[in-house]
Amino acid sequence: MIPVERRKTAAVNIDGVVIGGTAPVVVQSMTNTDTADVNGTITQIRQLVDAGSELVRVTVNNDSAARAVPEIVSQLRESGYPIPIVGDFHYNGHLLLKKFPETANALSKLRINPGNVGTKHRDKNFTQIIEVAVEHDKPVRIGVNWGSLDQRLLTELMDENAGRQTPKNGREVVLEAMVQSGLRSADLAEQNGLRHDQIVISTKVSSVRDLVSVYRMLAARCDYPLHLGLTEAGLGVKGIVATTAGLSPLLLDGIGDTIRVSLTPKPGGDRAEEVRVAQQVLQSLGIRHFEPQVISCPGCGRTTSTFFQEMAEEITGYIQKMIPQWRISYPGVEEMDVAVMGCVVNGPGESKHANIGISLPGTFEEPKAPVYIDGEHSITLKGEGLVEEFKEILFDYVKETYGTGV
Ligand code: SF4
Repeated sequence: MIPVERRKTAAVNIDGVVIGGTAPVVVQSMTNTDTADVNGTITQIRQLVDAGSELVRVTVNNDSAARAVPEIVSQLRESGYPIPIVGDFHYNGHLLLKKFPETANALSKLRINPGNVGTKHRDKNFTQIIEVAVEHDKPVRIGVNWGSLDQRLLTELMDENAGRQTPKNGREVVLEAMVQSGLRSADLAEQNGLRHDQIVISTKVSSVRDLVSVYRMLAARCDYPLHLGLTEAGLGVKGIVATTAGLSPLLLDGIGDTIRVSLTPKPGGDRAEEVRVAQQVLQSLGIRHFEPQVISCPGCGRTTSTFFQEMAEEITGYIQKMIPQWRISYPGVEEMDVAVMGCVVNGPGESKHANIGISLPGTFEEPKAPVYIDGEHSITLKGEGLVEEFKEILFDYVKETYGTGV
C-alpha cells in the first residue's frame, strides 16, 4: 500500500496525546450524558475509552456541569482511566472558566466556538477564554461550525463579495467565512499569549462536498493541526456513509490530525459506535490499524448454503474476542489481514494477498478448503471441524509471527 503523506503541522500535546506533527491520527469522541451526572458521565467515558477513544469531550454548559468536571477527571484517573478530557464551551465559556478555575485546570483542552462567544463582546469574551487557557497552560480547539457561524464576519464578507465585478456564489462565501473565522480566531489567540503549538482548528459542515472544500481551503492556509468531522452526520448507515465519504478524500490527501464521527445514536443506543466507525475509517484507508482486517466476499449463488456466512461471522467474532489479549501479547497483530472467501473464483487469489486466508468450496466444488499462509498454500481442510481447525491455525500463525507471546 502506498503510504499517505501527511500535511506538515505543528504538534499539539494534550496531556500526552499528540495531535499533529508526526503523531498518528487521533480518534476522539464526545459524551451525550448530562455532565452534571458524574457517575453517568464516567460510565460513558469508560465505554468510549474501552472502545478506543483517545480523547473524550464533554459539554460544559452551566455551573453544575462545570462543578462536576474536576470530580469526573479525578475519579477517572483513580480508576485507571487517565484519558484527557476536553471541555466543550458555548456562549458562557468565558464566565464558567473564570468562575471555576479548578475546572479549567482539570480539563486537558478547551473547545471554543468563535461563532457563539457573544456578539457585541465577541472578541472580549473569546480573549477571556484564551487568558484562562494561557494561565492554565491548556491547548484550545477553535471549532467553527456552519450552524453557528460568526454572523458579523459572514455579513462583512457577503457585502464585500456583492461589490465584486464577478461575485462568488453564496456557498463559497460561507466556506471562506468559516476559514477566516478559524484563522482570525487563532491569530487573536496567539496575540493573547497562546502558543502556536497549542491550537487545533476545525471547520465542520454537514454537507460532504462542502466539508472536503472547506478543509482543503483551510489546510492550504495554515499549519495548525486539523480536527476533522462531518457535523450532524445523522443516524445509522446514512451517518456512517456520509462521514466516510467526507473524511476519506481529506485523509488520503494527508489532511486531518484527529477525527470525530458525529453519529446520532438510536435511543438507548451504543455511543461507542462512533469510535468504532472512526477506527474503521482509518483502518480501511490503511492509515492506522486497530484490529486485524477480515476480508470476506459477499457470497453469491456459488455459495448457496449459510455455511460460508456462519464461518465468516465465526472467524470475525473469534478475532474480536481474542484481540484485546493479542494486542498485548503479540504487538503488530493489528496489521494482519485474514481472508475468508466463499469459493474458488476469488478465494485463492484473495487468500494469497492476505497474511492468512481460507477459501471455502462453492456449491459445485469439491468439499475442501485450502488455507494459504503468507501467499503460499499451506494445508487443505475438510469435514465439519474445519472452522475450529482454521482458528487453531490462525492462532498458531499469530503466535509465530507477532511478538513473543509474553
Ligand atoms: S468468491 Fe465466490 S462465493 Fe464469493 S462472491 Fe466471489 S464468486 Fe461468489
